[in-house]
Amino acid sequence: MSLESEIKKRRTFAIISHPDAGKTTLTEKFLLYGGAINLAGSVKGKKTAKHAVSDWMEIEKERGISVTSSVLQFNYEGYCINILDTPGHEDFSEDTYRTLMAADSAVMVIDASKGVEKQTIKLFKVCVMRHIPIFTFINKMDREANDPFELLDEIESVLGISTCPINWPIGCGKEFKGVYDRKEKNVSLFKAAMNGQKEVDTEIVDASDEAVFKDRIGDAFYDKLQEDIELLDGASAEFDQEMVSAGDLTPVFFGSALTNFGVQTFLEHFLSMTTSPLPRKSDQGIIDPFTEDFSAFVFKIQANMNKAHRDRIAFMRICSGKFEAGMEANHVQGGKKIRLSQPQQMMAEERHIVDEAYAGDIIGVFDPGIFSIGDTICKSNKKFAFEGIPTFAPEHFARVRQLDTMKRKQFIKGINQIAQEGAIQIFQEFNTGMEEIIVGVVGVLQFEVLEYRLKNEYGVDIRLEPLPYEHIRWIENPEEIDVNRIVGTSDMKKIKDLKGNPLLVFANSWSVNMVLERNEGLKLSEFGRN
Ligand code: GDP
Repeated sequence: MSLESEIKKRRTFAIISHPDAGKTTLTEKFLLYGGAINLAGSVKGKKTAKHAVSDWMEIEKERGISVTSSVLQFNYEGYCINILDTPGHEDFSEDTYRTLMAADSAVMVIDASKGVEKQTIKLFKVCVMRHIPIFTFINKMDREANDPFELLDEIESVLGISTCPINWPIGCGKEFKGVYDRKEKNVSLFKAAMNGQKEVDTEIVDASDEAVFKDRIGDAFYDKLQEDIELLDGASAEFDQEMVSAGDLTPVFFGSALTNFGVQTFLEHFLSMTTSPLPRKSDQGIIDPFTEDFSAFVFKIQANMNKAHRDRIAFMRICSGKFEAGMEANHVQGGKKIRLSQPQQMMAEERHIVDEAYAGDIIGVFDPGIFSIGDTICKSNKKFAFEGIPTFAPEHFARVRQLDTMKRKQFIKGINQIAQEGAIQIFQEFNTGMEEIIVGVVGVLQFEVLEYRLKNEYGVDIRLEPLPYEHIRWIENPEEIDVNRIVGTSDMKKIKDLKGNPLLVFANSWSVNMVLERNEGLKLSEFGRN
């Protein structure tokens, strides 16, 4: 196959949701259609379903923590699909955000009885910042659900994106009849077959045949559907591919991942509405994915995959050309030529060595400790660097002290290395130096990771003293204002990052607005520049 057709068939996306909305279940159903697994849910016992196929390494289970997000690749109808898993639950971390930097589009799973939830909002913001297409799957229609119009309203008002329902539910819960396809004007009837463990054939009924249709769903549901359709045609946004591509309009689908209803339709529409890997910005202009020369950027660094060694795996998203195992390429930030060894990829539930990969794919390569998040690797001798990955707002802060003051050196080395991998962010008091270290994390579990790793890898015991701050803002225009003169609130604190950039942390969200009001000209951002 030519380079062009290999790249053309690729689709790389992330699934975002709040824990328990059904992301794992939906992912499994996708894999089922791709033939990557035979019986969805059979990979692991039911209890561990949450940590089923998309889980990564034994070591994480031993430690009882999961610090990674994984990638699953499978083929479906001539497409090569890469799904980036974004860990939720307690293991929500900056990695979850960074993973979105490697995706070309996102699928947002919403629990129909819960609507838009907290973690979805956070992840959604990152997608919006990148202007990537976002597809909505409203899940669990086989259970009692909120009114579909209310769900759409909520998506529009809370997330600020227009919605375009591609299909529409008829009833829900025990009375869930199926979904109406607005374009095809037919109805897929709901049949919960085999507990959703096998692919099901969906029965499709032509909605224009009133008698047959009424007979199948009953008069009341028929009338309600006619009403809904009229209302929808009058009120909702029309489908507009350009708006979808720009991330301004989200196509909405209703279904039930568990019973495998509406998953295939969703997948097919999704594939046709998304594109192959898109060009990416670099400091030397736009990089075309179809150019021969391999290029990639590092979006995640995973430490200690192998307990016996202190090695790391750098995960990179390929942005152009073809990757071949053992190839030499320029590590732009390091200023050196390097050989990319031990390339790995996730294929369904197994990690394996790859010989080649293409733009759109994610590979993990052995990292002897040279890579940082955001680094560019390119084959071309005309070196360029991809746009950096922003720093995402930590939500938990703690002061860190090492218990044995004799181990200062190891402590500083360890904490810096862990920060370089992107597991934590380090800050300092605004007016003093490195003697006081403040650590910020996105998920509290990262504190445990820090403690564990400093002890195990660097032999340093630490004490963490939690700080009450929950909101952080980077000052966007420090050159325009006098940071020393910022009028704060009682729950605000000035800190700086390792590069000396000033930041503000707040215990309460309302203080953010108050500080903006009190300081004319001050610009604050939730994302840090790199
Ligand atoms: P995740 O945390 O988003 O990955 O959610 P999971 O896929 O693990 O699902 C959370 C729970 O919801 C599990 O018990 C699933 O079996 C259940 N679930 C997922 N999809 C559906 C659905 O369509 N209908 C029903 N009734 N339950 C579902």
